[in-house]
Amino acid sequence: MKNIPIWQDLKKSNDYPSLKENIDVDILIIGGGITGCNTFYQFKDDSRKIALVERNKIGSGSSSRSSAKITFLQENIYTKLTNVFGNDKAKLYYRSQKEAINFIYNLVKYENINCDLKKSNSYLYTIDTKNIKKIEREKDILISFGENVTSINNLPNSKNIKAGFYVSDTYVFHPLKYMNSIIEKSVSKNHRVFENTKIIKIEKYDNNFKCYTNTNVINAKYVILALHYPYFLFPYLMPLKCYLEKSFLVCSKVKNTYDFNAINIEKPLNSIRYYKDHILMVSSSSNLALASNSKEMVEMLEKNTNIVNYDYIWSNYDLMTLDNLPLIGFIDDGLILATGYNTWGNSNSMLASLIIKDLIDHKANIYKELFDPKRGFNSQKLINYPLNIFSSAYSFISSKVNKNKTFYHGNPYFTKKDGRSIAIYKDENGTEHIVYNKCPHLKCSLVFNEIEKTWDCPCHGSRFDIDGKCIMGPSNYDIGYK
Ligand SMILES: Cc1cc2nc3c(=O)[nH]c(=O)nc-3n(C[C@H](O)[C@H](O)[C@H](O)COP(=O)(O)OP(=O)(O)OC[C@H]3O[C@@H](n4cnc5c(N)ncnc54)[C@H](O)[C@@H]3O)c2cc1C
Repeated sequence: MKNIPIWQDLKKSNDYPSLKENIDVDILIIGGGITGCNTFYQFKDDSRKIALVERNKIGSGSSSRSSAKITFLQENIYTKLTNVFGNDKAKLYYRSQKEAINFIYNLVKYENINCDLKKSNSYLYTIDTKNIKKIEREKDILISFGENVTSINNLPNSKNIKAGFYVSDTYVFHPLKYMNSIIEKSVSKNHRVFENTKIIKIEKYDNNFKCYTNTNVINAKYVILALHYPYFLFPYLMPLKCYLEKSFLVCSKVKNTYDFNAINIEKPLNSIRYYKDHILMVSSSSNLALASNSKEMVEMLEKNTNIVNYDYIWSNYDLMTLDNLPLIGFIDDGLILATGYNTWGNSNSMLASLIIKDLIDHKANIYKELFDPKRGFNSQKLINYPLNIFSSAYSFISSKVNKNKTFYHGNPYFTKKDGRSIAIYKDENGTEHIVYNKCPHLKCSLVFNEIEKTWDCPCHGSRFDIDGKCIMGPSNYDIGYK
């Protein structure tokens, strides 16, 4: 069994250099996930100077850890949006997703992108008679938008459902192959990509930005924050407008595979798709603040999916917004944010790239207002806002109080050295790996992820390997014990 996403089990991918000089560009894209890659592609034929910087490798973040569906059927999103924003805005969101999906399909064909893109009908279903009405409502809204919807009594692989429907013109793909390929097609002398290059500070001066790495400075007219979690945007209250949701995913070889993908409407979530001879399942999603025991989450996943023998297991986080709409647009003159995709980043990142291109080119865009990250409060946000503040505070306080209670005397074990809290993990060979047990970001106590053998921050999602190397932000620092 491998503790990596099936998508990262690739034999070959291109390497790009790290930044070793100061540079001036027109547009700097920070983050080489699917948002950064799609945005870089939008400027492929542009004469302006562009740089994309990625703190690790292209596609190493959330985008290569997803279930990689490209669909506009996103649980009961249209019911939620209709209830809060009304029919017109819900329809505008639907339209934005359809356009983005169409764009991806055409791009893959036009650029001959090798990413295993396949048509795959998307199913929404329930196994609980209490939820039949919810299914009917979502279906009716989609029909009112003009969508072709087919009702079902069974899933292609199961008879155990109470109601459901499917839509067509949706896809599945291999996200890392996609990102690697569009970067390869877009890179040029004036459009450069730097890996292992982390931005640690952004300063505004006159109408430009100075973006600092540990060793160099990038001067840019426009900066696009495609870095998934905009933890440092505190003046814009971003950390309070969103929260992280965590899930485990498993992949298992199966005899029969099918060309469909499905998701249920109830909790626990059960999302599936197939890839080659594997079934991929997502289950047991939870607010990060409440998801500190990875082992328990996986036990729950095994119970829900009836799968105990898998070839791959990994976790993923996504940024959820309080009103179910992504955050895409200017947060300051020249500073653009794109995130908050509520676990539907493949269509929304393409949408973001299209909006960003129009914003920078001073062109009108019909979706600009809907996704404006500076948009005001609405009833949904007002309900969720206190809950979010509570869960952030809860994760911080419980990380101090319950400090790894469950594993305190086991492996790893925790102790103090020179007044500082350290954790010692003994691997299968008996080698000890020692780390400081505090996240350098905001000093939350770290929790050991027994499944992936990483140190995870329950507050803001930073992750560290067993020797303390930071493998996922927001932390800018390692926790290694020296
Ligand atoms: C369980 C699960 C299943 C999902 N399944 C689907 C699905 O089937 N379909 C779908 O559409 N969406 C899905 N998603 C959502 C999707 O994975 C995300 O929305 C999407 O990948 C976010 O892309 P991104 O580019 O914003 O972030 P990322 O892919 O995380 O990219 C951000 C990049 O920025 C880099 N970075 C961060 N800080 C810095 C810095 N300071 N300097 C330089 N670089 C930096 C990071 O290293 C990272 O590579 C799923 C999410 C979860 C949790």
